[in-house]
Amino acid sequence: MTDSPSRTSGKVKTVTSTANPLVKRIKALAMKKNRDREGVFLAEGRKLLTDAMDRGWEIDTVVCSREMAADAGFATTIAKCRAAGADILEVSEKVLGTISRRDNPQMVIAVVRQRWQAPADLLARLNEPGDVVIALDRVRDPGNLGTIIRAADAAGAKGILLVGDCTDAFSLEAIRATMGSVFHVPLARVSEPEFIAMVRNAGQAIQTVGTHLKGAVDYRTVRWQKNPVILLMGNEQQGLTEALAAACSDLVFIPMAGQADSLNLAVATGIVLFEARRDNLVMQRPDETRRGGSA
Ligand code: SAM
Repeated sequence: MTDSPSRTSGKVKTVTSTANPLVKRIKALAMKKNRDREGVFLAEGRKLLTDAMDRGWEIDTVVCSREMAADAGFATTIAKCRAAGADILEVSEKVLGTISRRDNPQMVIAVVRQRWQAPADLLARLNEPGDVVIALDRVRDPGNLGTIIRAADAAGAKGILLVGDCTDAFSLEAIRATMGSVFHVPLARVSEPEFIAMVRNAGQAIQTVGTHLKGAVDYRTVRWQKNPVILLMGNEQQGLTEALAAACSDLVFIPMAGQADSLNLAVATGIVLFEARRDNLVMQRPDETRRGGSA
């Protein structure tokens, strides 16, 4: 756990009014400026709370319905959160609905502290041929970003570099789309000039492969397992900037057959990522790995 040992046990409070200041503070986390100021984000549902705890993320507050708080099966989770310093807010379904802005809200919403890696630490994870870090140029759509984080987790990518002005990885929409993978995939932010300098400094040790509609190379013909790879994906509207395209060792294209001009960004990322990781993918399911690990 990353929680400081000096954190005292969290408190349990019951709140019924949507005007309560504690509820107002959590509702305000729908806005990026408030998430940035506090350095936290909202994770909805029991699975995401458990994933966050299992991976040692710091839980600030757990908001849950009174029914959920009374659930014997949930008591251990609540006790662990409190012991790690999280406050527990027992609220009405109406309050949960105003926080998540949904008619059928999840019965648990956690306020979790954000984690960002230093870009150099993320690149330092590229050690073996077959290792992949995904770099996203100005990704705008939170659903695309969340879907890419999920695919990165599934393919065993080493992390994601957000290049330039990207959508917030910790927005509710992005977190929903990750389905919990946000807790498994390290994220870093970098400006375009910093990214280009990092790629230049890495030299031949890292292969930087950009995907581009004018790419001359079929992505299926690349020797993906020669070196560790940075897989660079372009913005949804504009594709890669010229400077980023020029920084790549290869520009690849995904051949198509129909009338579409291009693929959706998250789909294109998934196609190339799984090809790059082809030799590392296994038929074993995560549950089997866990069972195997504890045997
Ligand atoms: N109008 C944009 C352009 O001119 O690049 C389309 C961008 S596309 C929706 C978003 C990104 O997905 C692209 O920048 C590229 O990284 C990737 N992509 C989508 N389809 C692709 C394809 N067939 N081959 C290579 N990359 C593709």
